[in-house]
Amino acid sequence: MKKKYEVDFSTYLKEYPNEEGYFGEYGGAYLPEELVPAFKEITVAYKTICHSAQFINELRRIRREFQGRPTPVYHCERLSRMLGTTQIYLKREDLNHTGAHKLNHCMGEGLLAKFMGKKKLIAETGAGQHGVALATAAAYFGLECDIYMGEVDIAKQAPNVARMKILGANVVPVSHGLKTLKEAVDAAFEAYLREYKDAIYCIGSVVGPHPFPMMVRDFQMVVGIEAREQFLEMTGILPDAVVACVGGGSNAMGLFPAFLNDPVNMYGVEPLGKGPNIGEHAASITYGEKGILHGFESIMLKDEKGEAAPVHSIASGLDYPSTGPEHAFLYDIGRAKYATATDEEAVEAFFKLSRYEGIIPALESSHAVAYAMKLAKENKYGSVLVNLSGRGDKDLEYVIENYGFGEEYK
Ligand SMILES: *Cc1c(COP(=O)(O)O)cnc(C)c1O
Repeated sequence: MKKKYEVDFSTYLKEYPNEEGYFGEYGGAYLPEELVPAFKEITVAYKTICHSAQFINELRRIRREFQGRPTPVYHCERLSRMLGTTQIYLKREDLNHTGAHKLNHCMGEGLLAKFMGKKKLIAETGAGQHGVALATAAAYFGLECDIYMGEVDIAKQAPNVARMKILGANVVPVSHGLKTLKEAVDAAFEAYLREYKDAIYCIGSVVGPHPFPMMVRDFQMVVGIEAREQFLEMTGILPDAVVACVGGGSNAMGLFPAFLNDPVNMYGVEPLGKGPNIGEHAASITYGEKGILHGFESIMLKDEKGEAAPVHSIASGLDYPSTGPEHAFLYDIGRAKYATATDEEAVEAFFKLSRYEGIIPALESSHAVAYAMKLAKENKYGSVLVNLSGRGDKDLEYVIENYGFGEEYK
């Protein structure tokens, strides 16, 4: 472990990222010349508008009245008892409007667009989760919404495509290359370049060029701030550990910051998919190396040629060959640990949480639950708080087709 940075966690959020968007050596903005002014405009707007009382009050009202925040913290008594003495708690982001944490930053991005006088939101989507959350925000604010999506993904994700269209978004098919997420990112960037006077680009996680890793973190931080207060009120103490799944890393960066300055262990859980060979998983920090992808520097999975490696996870929201630069930094300084859960472990957790607690989790969130269950079996912590990032309705069809109704997990 490198100890190059002496980090004071009581002032951490003021100091990270720095002016150029770096968390230690990760982050930044690696952009084509033409896009520099557009991202600069967002950075300046974020720094002024988002810290105005008017913006903050409006976002608070939206969270309360539209999103249904605060979401509860829930004590999994039956699941905990079955595993041992460690008590597992969930921060119920599955109860956030639209069923996942993603709306937290989409509403922030939409409100920023409104304050900036923009007329349109632009984004890419892979599985369609970010597209649906952003289309929801666009409908709420009365903004146009163009979602770029590979043709292969459009065919695979029919329900989410339908949701976006019902919400009034324009789903733009991308038909070159492999016709999946990477091509959709390129197409969305090109569109933004053409339209940035009237539009704003909205990234779906704590990834991408500065200021997005910071901005999305800041919009998501409400999760940890609420959870810390709720947990203290429920138990009188802090959890011994907090756990969240990590794709791009936004739900984890929602939970972690509130506990950075506390004696609380942090675990980000990456998808180990079918195994440790390249192409079988998407555990970027666990198996990756330093590299630049999609305009930011972080720890990424590379193939023999040094390009982004093919990735796999049963959870399409975790299927990304890099991760947010702040996770790479927290890993480097040793403040957060990064563990893994396989497809199989996630599926087991999916059924266990459903049967023991009456909560069907998203397959993404099931990775975090799986690791919390592993920690609970070790009996070394008194309590573990998991960010249950989303609900599993979207995954039912896939799970039933491949695993039946989980008879073997009784
Ligand atoms: C998209 C998604 C994730 C992964 O995104 P992060 O940015 O890593 O949080 C996790 N859980 C759910 C339910 C999602 O929809």
